[in-house]
Amino acid sequence: MKLNEYQKEARLFAVNDDLLHFTFGLLEEAGEAAGVLKRVYRGDDGYEDFNWSDYGLSEEAEKKLAAELGDILWHIAVIADNLGLSLDAIAEYNLSKLQSRKQRDMIKGSGDNR
Ligand SMILES: [Mg+2]
Repeated sequence: MKLNEYQKEARLFAVNDDLLHFTFGLLEEAGEAAGVLKRVYRGDDGYEDFNWSDYGLSEEAEKKLAAELGDILWHIAVIADNLGLSLDAIAEYNLSKLQSRKQRDMIKGSGDNR
């Protein structure tokens, strides 16, 4: 599935057009994804098979993390749609930016304008 196709379909599930609501949702979902990784890191029941050296996730942790990453993707799709931005264009711009940084040996570091 292409990103723009996903974006169009994702929009069908939005209950409103409130950008602030979507933004809060995105932050909530990012926190949920971090929560799964926290439990993996801590070795909670169902998450103890994780090995940071090979990034292997238990099946349960993988499913939970994938679900939260999907939630994050949905929120990004509807926020972009609200702003009239296409996911394809955002993805292409992002890869272009990263390619430029890599060519200039600027992947590491901080700041948007590298
Ligand atoms: Mg979630």
